[in-house]
Amino acid sequence: MKFGGTSVGDASRIGRVAEIVSEYVDYSQIVVVSAMSGTTDRLVQAYANARVGESWLEEFQAIESGHYAALEQLGGKGSERERVKAKLAEILAELKQRLEAVPADGTMSHQQSDSIVSFGERLSVRLVAFCLNTRGIAAQAVEATELIVTTSDFGDAEPLLELTERRSKFRLEQLLRQGITPIVTGFIGSTTHGETTTLGRGGSDYTATIIGYCVDAEEVIIWTDVPGVMTTDPRVVSDARTIQSLSYDEAADLSHFGAKVLHPLTMVPASLKNTPIRIKNSFRVEAPGTLITDSIIDASQTVKAITPKKDLTLISITDTRRNVLEVLTQVGAALADCGVTPYLMTHASAIGSVSVVVDMAKREVLLKAIESHGKLEKIRSEDDISIIAIVGSGIYSIPGLYAKAFTALSGSGVKFLAIASDASQRSLSIAIKNDDTYVAIRSLHQGLQLIRTEDENE
Ligand code: ASP
Ligand code: MG
Repeated sequence: MKFGGTSVGDASRIGRVAEIVSEYVDYSQIVVVSAMSGTTDRLVQAYANARVGESWLEEFQAIESGHYAALEQLGGKGSERERVKAKLAEILAELKQRLEAVPADGTMSHQQSDSIVSFGERLSVRLVAFCLNTRGIAAQAVEATELIVTTSDFGDAEPLLELTERRSKFRLEQLLRQGITPIVTGFIGSTTHGETTTLGRGGSDYTATIIGYCVDAEEVIIWTDVPGVMTTDPRVVSDARTIQSLSYDEAADLSHFGAKVLHPLTMVPASLKNTPIRIKNSFRVEAPGTLITDSIIDASQTVKAITPKKDLTLISITDTRRNVLEVLTQVGAALADCGVTPYLMTHASAIGSVSVVVDMAKREVLLKAIESHGKLEKIRSEDDISIIAIVGSGIYSIPGLYAKAFTALSGSGVKFLAIASDASQRSLSIAIKNDDTYVAIRSLHQGLQLIRTEDENE
């Protein structure tokens, strides 16, 4: 089971974690936790300040007082609490030392950054383990640096699954045999040389399925503060519903296109051993939430969700003197040079004319890279673009899908800038102006009748 930052955000939330764990006592459980909400952001800020020689004390003190306050409020036996407090103090002293050691020369070291941002999880696991122990559930904090071996891509490390499996299985099963629930730090790992790495922001979900893979878990449960994966953002569309089931691929597509439920790589370890992932609301344990399983079970040919990805740039390249293959090759090489993954790419003409949509933040580097590969007749970029992705396995077989989608959009005055379908027939992406995003989602949600095709499960 994995609990995110808000689920361990204060003492009462941590208490709720203990209640949920005790409801599942009949199972051997491994608990993965994120940092308390806000902590990782503070650590990122502290490092950013430290490397340019500015004070990070405010962030440090907020982290320190937040964790001490939560510990006090967790109650428990005084002597035990003192022991945990000493452990927190030791970890905080180490954090302070690391921040002091950052050279104030403005350079960015992802390695140093990882060693600092990992502290949020190192602190939170102590609080959670303490809380479980005070409630009579034997628990022990475990740092994933001892379990998860990764590449040295600091900031975005990838697990080396075989090595990780060997290490984790042994250590975790040993604890479980003794009747102890391991409380594992999400988000972090270490290289084969023992340097701390992180799996990318929001990486605790990924930790949960990596650990699930290693111990051949029956199921991985991700506890959140929402009812599950929703048909669209419920803040935008009040009729949004919980999706009952998704395939791994559908869930990965939704994460890719901006649904903020899961880290996009979470489905990878789970799909290797067909481990079901269940997303559940920690305030409504009895509600089924969303089940993510193998795609074979679930090629349901219904639209599952509509998800917006905002703040993108549409780059259009035209060169009438060249053929499309030459221009595509040039754009492809430029994308590879700067490691940018496009959200959408289209061409439909024999002459060199290609459109590509990327994060707005990547516009400048990409434009430079494209131009560095040869002069082009015309290259234009348009900011403040958003992509609306309509996601669902086999949706292209739904009669009238395109007609319904475009009628809904045109009816509300949304202008399409580019359209792309995905070869695996799982998503249809439409680029529009940022300003049209909410109208587009609302009209598509209604026009494609997501309201009716999904059963209410609350
Ligand atoms: N604490 C990390 C973050 O804020 C990892 C996570 O929450 O999953 O990104
Ligand atoms: Mg998250």
